Amino acid sequence: MTATEAKPNLLDLDLADCETLVVDLGFKAFHGRNLFKWIHKHGVLDYDAMTDVPKRLREALRATADIYLPRIIADHPSADGTTKWVMELADGQRIETVYIPEGKRSTICVSSQVGCALDCAFCATARQGFNRNLSVAEIIGQVWHAARMLGAAPTNVVMMGMGEPLANFDASVKAMDIMQDDLAYMLAKQRVTLSTSGIVPNIYRLRELSDVSLAVSLHAPNDELRDRLVPINRKYPLAELIPACKTYVANDKRRKVTWEYVMLDGVNDSMAHAKQLIRLLEGVPSKLNLIPFNPFAGNDFGTSPPDRIEAFRVRLTRAGIFAMTRKTRGDEIAAACGQLVGRVEDRTRRLGSIRVEDGRLEVQR
Ligand code: SAH
Repeated sequence: MTATEAKPNLLDLDLADCETLVVDLGFKAFHGRNLFKWIHKHGVLDYDAMTDVPKRLREALRATADIYLPRIIADHPSADGTTKWVMELADGQRIETVYIPEGKRSTICVSSQVGCALDCAFCATARQGFNRNLSVAEIIGQVWHAARMLGAAPTNVVMMGMGEPLANFDASVKAMDIMQDDLAYMLAKQRVTLSTSGIVPNIYRLRELSDVSLAVSLHAPNDELRDRLVPINRKYPLAELIPACKTYVANDKRRKVTWEYVMLDGVNDSMAHAKQLIRLLEGVPSKLNLIPFNPFAGNDFGTSPPDRIEAFRVRLTRAGIFAMTRKTRGDEIAAACGQLVGRVEDRTRRLGSIRVEDGRLEVQR
């Protein structure tokens, strides 16, 4: 196997990077805009089809840059319209992306890492451990594929697939910027949601760089329980998490933090928990999503019965907290929250080594 010199992948570049690249090659910046638009808005990856990009620039690009994406290797549609795409990365690892249609809305649930390091007790992704961060290309590549499959950009993107996006901060932020770019997928900031288990310093950093919607996996109303369910809480307890989230939405009266709360039978679903939750969220503009636990093999958790979930929801609503029970979608194809487990790499199929440096993916074949 010979190692070829790694070329930058154009899918890793945002608009400014594309402009810089073509200027460095001796061309005017607007060609970089066109290049970016061809790739993301029109979904064109073949240089020869980029008719308004000068031929000499196309040749220069071919010599200096690559264009590659994750590959869709399986497509699992479910009866309710939810579809799970399994994608294979250049190094043979696999991730999952979920498409959730709902009326006029098309939501894409995007993965940010292969596996996850955070070890939440009730999450299937945690079971496979952490493999690596995804590159910008591998994150935005999921949206690129969705736009091609749907024939239009999705209306919403949620960074709620496999992995913890705030633990892959730079690539997640850059990919979310590309989602919002008018020359790419044109998503409004309210339609891009990042979900985190609560990496507090990076919630503050995110606020400096982005204003996407924030969802936080809360799951427990006190530290004792949250330490067990969401172990990152031992590092960033509620007394730090709640103010960080409050600050995140503070500059806009219309904004709310979306709290995710998985309903685990007999664990976090009592009226006493509801009361604690009401106290905890006092003064924080909040929206609460109650997620019926999605079971998977090999754990003891059960789903709270529907009447208990409803009683919990009503209790919160009475206290003035907008609470909704999330419909479980795609559970029979293991595409529901917490069920994603893109199989870990099979070393016999490995192409070569892969490195991520300065947000760039480097593959040696
Ligand atoms: N790491 C990020 C992104 C994952 S989002 C985060 O923690 O927010 C996936 C959402 O589904 C999270 O709220 C997660 O806590 C929740 N979840 C995980 N396992 C689940 C399960 N088995 N049933 C229901 N929801 C689950």
